[in-house]
Amino acid sequence: MKRIAVMTSGGDAPGMNAAIRAVVRAGMDRNVEVYGIRQAYAGLLAGDMELLTSREVSGILQRGGTILQTARNEEFKTPQGHKKALRRLNEHGIEGVVVVGGDGSLRGALQLHKLGVPVVGVPASIDNDIWGTDMSIGVDTALNTILDAIDRLRDTATSHNRAFLIEVMGRDCGYLALMGGILGGAEIVITPENGITMEEIAASLEDSYVRGKTHAIAMIAEGAPYPVTDLAKFLEQKHIGFEIRLTILGHTQRGGSPTAFDRLLATRLGVHAVNGLLEGENGSMVAQVGREQKFLPLVDCTSKTRAISTQYFELAKMLSR
Ligand code: ADP
Repeated sequence: MKRIAVMTSGGDAPGMNAAIRAVVRAGMDRNVEVYGIRQAYAGLLAGDMELLTSREVSGILQRGGTILQTARNEEFKTPQGHKKALRRLNEHGIEGVVVVGGDGSLRGALQLHKLGVPVVGVPASIDNDIWGTDMSIGVDTALNTILDAIDRLRDTATSHNRAFLIEVMGRDCGYLALMGGILGGAEIVITPENGITMEEIAASLEDSYVRGKTHAIAMIAEGAPYPVTDLAKFLEQKHIGFEIRLTILGHTQRGGSPTAFDRLLATRLGVHAVNGLLEGENGSMVAQVGREQKFLPLVDCTSKTRAISTQYFELAKMLSR
């Protein structure tokens, strides 16, 4: 291969820039040109791509977001979209593609592979919901942002005898809520997986109040079985002792400079993806498994769901007394 391309797709995640940089510099090391496709599959269909040199990727390692930007695109899911994508890649002489993104983006990568384009995927998603890899790019940074918020909110909660409901991202996966809860010392964690009822939450927070705690933190994943605003109203009506306050962290979780862990993960996965692609890997995702990087079939990574180990739920419960 003489020319490959890299794109960042789906929800952005801190560390995507570090991955782009790693792909470009690893390509240079192997005498391969690396094109950057802007705005993911939308840019691919529009032919919006250009050569990335070492200069374009200097000074981006520490920046959140993605210099290539990201987008969602429906046309790439259609047969016309597939044809257009192949045409654009041929026009630009691109012989292989590295797709950095979440499970949707990796399904797109699998589609490219099925069209005959050599592809390697790199898992990046703050939700940590991608099957096969211990961690995805962006998770560690998002988690640290969440912990910083919990620490701040606990300071003010304690001053006023308040219970804070903190909603974090995770529509289908409660990883951030659960880990944030364990590491931030929350009293209770509500995720799409654990199905705790509003009554149980009220009882648990009331119990914390009666036992003399000066504050309480409830971590709630976006994908909880009920809207967090309904929960706040319900708890207010229950008069559990604490005043109730609600904070939705929202998109603050996506931004920020990537942590050392995310920079290292993105760098290792990015370099490994390029080396794999040049050595014939195709239709694979590069995963971090223990201390090693491994190639796993994209078809597995996109069809299976990464379950959170039940021992973390037990740990959260045990430590919240
Ligand atoms: P994420 O990668 O963060 O999970 P999405 O699920 O929104 O984000 O997927 C990002 C993009 O990947 C979609 O907008 C679409 O362009 C592409 N994509 C997702 N699923 C498919 C699919 N089955 N076939 C082709 N492209 C897909």
